[in-house]
Amino acid sequence: MASVFPQALEYRSPGEKITFTSQAPKGSIVTVKIGDEVYNMQPTKIVPTEKVAYPDKYTFVYTVPNYDGVPRIIDLGAPEYTTYYNGVAKTTKAPATFGIIMNNSPFYAEVIKDVINTYQTPTTVNGAAYELYGGMIDSITAVAGSYIRLSSGLWVNKSDVKAYTTEMPLSPIITKSEYIAGEKWDELRFEISSPTAAIADYNGTNLKLNISNASPDAMLVQPDNSLFASAAITRTGSNAEYTFTLKENQTIEGYYIEKTDQGLVLRIKRAVIAQSGEFPLVGMTIMLDPGHGGSDPGAVGPLGAKYPEKAINLDTAFKLKSELEELGATVLMTRTVDKDVTLDERLTASRNARPDMFISIHANSMGDNVDISKVDGFSVFYKEKLAEPLANRIFNDTIGSLSRNNKGLHVRNLYVTRGTWTPSILFESGFVPNPNEFEWLIDGNEQAKLAKSVAESVVKYFTLKPIE
Ligand SMILES: [Zn+2]
Repeated sequence: MASVFPQALEYRSPGEKITFTSQAPKGSIVTVKIGDEVYNMQPTKIVPTEKVAYPDKYTFVYTVPNYDGVPRIIDLGAPEYTTYYNGVAKTTKAPATFGIIMNNSPFYAEVIKDVINTYQTPTTVNGAAYELYGGMIDSITAVAGSYIRLSSGLWVNKSDVKAYTTEMPLSPIITKSEYIAGEKWDELRFEISSPTAAIADYNGTNLKLNISNASPDAMLVQPDNSLFASAAITRTGSNAEYTFTLKENQTIEGYYIEKTDQGLVLRIKRAVIAQSGEFPLVGMTIMLDPGHGGSDPGAVGPLGAKYPEKAINLDTAFKLKSELEELGATVLMTRTVDKDVTLDERLTASRNARPDMFISIHANSMGDNVDISKVDGFSVFYKEKLAEPLANRIFNDTIGSLSRNNKGLHVRNLYVTRGTWTPSILFESGFVPNPNEFEWLIDGNEQAKLAKSVAESVVKYFTLKPIE
């Protein structure tokens, strides 16, 4: 019984439905013992085309019970699976234990690194969700192998937090909240009685702030020049959730949470508007991220190592840099030479600089089974709603002005497009393995045309805003 559950330590909360699985020959009676209770397992239907005596899968859906009193965390041991077949009973113990974290257990995780990622499921394969910051504390509602689930429902890596229990539950109270309007960034400051975790999310209309385990003391008072028409507080589970609704014709261009000694600050960026005249981008900082580099060549084309994607990206980035500088912008780059830069280093550079825009520059590879001479064109990727207007602008302008084939505008959770403090996008200039497209990609004049077109899009983006 190789696949019995759980294969790694598993703790869940009351009310969750957990499927225990086992395999046994068709016609067996199978039970699972969880703690002191024995439950019958049900066979799932055998696949009709199966000719060999392949074992059936047996399952039992366990609803995690709630207990009052102590202890609040209960270890039920390793589940035992017993198969009765042809008059013989055979018992197998799961390799790991199962347990219950009762509601409101004083069981906590404290972030022990500057910035950590959270995940929607206990795996990294679907990419990260929100960031949490050093010193933030949240209650633990589940453990699955090397992942821990927090009260927000998000999972974190065990190695990114310190897990501990306390005598009494922590109950953070939001004692003061304040809206401070600034020139570039507005600040929503929250004083909280004990450190807690928080995440923020923006959908184009509403900015939501979810503060873990916290009770709000009073609604925050908004100034006349607030970015928001309204603000509301609701309780979601044990958390306080603020919903801020943007004023009509208002937009924001970044947001992030900062943990402070007193509590936390949600910083929200007001729309950045281009200057009129010859230098429309004066006062703006734009970060360019030439993809790959060093030991990572990226996509490889007809010339192989002589002119791989990493070199095309860097050449294009330099041309875009000069165009943007001529328009008055300050341009930062995640690399200026052919060297290794990790994805995390690129995102961290953006997080530290908080530029007014982040553009990652790439060119595509393609699969082995496609006709390489037939695949060409321009595509743009973004993750955050915040970046959608910029992604749209650059995509539509480039397809239009340069008559590039449309390879689509895509929402994708790419590492470098995760920044919420600035519109962050990634474009794929063309397909490196296609010989015709490759000629275009390595042609300095064509790179300059693309750079000029993107720079014009950047100016338009900063000029044409739906602001009154
Ligand atoms: Zn690439």
